[in-house]
Amino acid sequence: MTDESSLLTQKSVGFAVKLMDHLVVPTFVLDKGRRVIIWNKACELLTGVPAEEVLGTREHWRAFYDSPRPCLADLIVEGRLEAIDSLYAQHAIRSSNELGYYAENWCVMPRAGTRLCLGIDSGPIYDERGHLIAVIETLRDLTEQKEDALTRLANRGAFDLGLEREWRRAVRNGHPLSMLMLDVDCFKLYNDSFGHPQGDVCLRSVASVIACHSQRSGDLVARYGGEEFVVILPGTDQDGAQVVARRIHEGVAALQISHPKSLVANHVSVSIGIATVNPKVGAGMANQLIDAADAALYQAKEAGRNRIVTLNLEESTPA
Ligand code: GH3
Ligand code: MG
Ligand code: MG
Repeated sequence: MTDESSLLTQKSVGFAVKLMDHLVVPTFVLDKGRRVIIWNKACELLTGVPAEEVLGTREHWRAFYDSPRPCLADLIVEGRLEAIDSLYAQHAIRSSNELGYYAENWCVMPRAGTRLCLGIDSGPIYDERGHLIAVIETLRDLTEQKEDALTRLANRGAFDLGLEREWRRAVRNGHPLSMLMLDVDCFKLYNDSFGHPQGDVCLRSVASVIACHSQRSGDLVARYGGEEFVVILPGTDQDGAQVVARRIHEGVAALQISHPKSLVANHVSVSIGIATVNPKVGAGMANQLIDAADAALYQAKEAGRNRIVTLNLEESTPA
């Protein structure tokens, strides 16, 4: 017996492939078995993965991530919408066209070789009988909106959104949330010695050490402003945060960037404030965590710089 809907699908896929190759929006389509049936030219350009490599497979995740995990389209095919929250940095129930779902994520893009923040719209396509036949996913590169131009870390806006999200998630899951606030010591004197452009080079090096030691999924490293950085460590308790902070502190020292005018070392160093909270429902705002990490950083500076200070959130807020 001929399956009329699959015949129709074959014809329409042929047309859709041609149509979508003209679209400048990176787009791919999965069938109801989660196999890739369309991977347009814009998607090839964005991911560096040619269509012939993924068509007919379920290997599309390789274009975006370095270990297996579902894409938004997979979750829609499988009806696992409840998993969106844990898998995506940012998401909305409905996409702006009301036809599907929207999420954002930092993707490692193994083949393209460049980390990108992607805005992802994905929605189901049904046949005339209301059966799911395919799911389409379109991608937008949001990296420039989210990234600090000098260090390529998340910018302040992306940090604010990320902190709100992780705070809500920690309240919901009952997990601890830690934050590191970092500031380069005597950096004005560094600029005075070597000039502002060399200062920029130094900030980039410090930024890459911080990023290198905060690589767990969900960790968010941002340039908070000037020579200050911030790291959000979801699901990390005080001990875990101290381990990360020590690695960063040692990593910056190990760069051995000469700083003859520094008042505290002969190389570039950082001071780090740590705060950890176990947010409970109704337990205040995410800003409390920033204030506590900032207070810890202030104490580290006061105590002589080039050191790490940890503060319990309770201690930082007067009773
Ligand atoms: P402290 O140890 O107390 O933190 O002293 P500091 O000199 O690091 O702190 P201060 O706040 O006095 O000076 C920060 C300096 O960082 C001054 C500013 O010119 C420099 N700075 C801020 N943003 C940038 C930047 O993007 N590039 C460069 N090269 N310098 C920057
Ligand atoms: Mg500062
Ligand atoms: Mg400083």
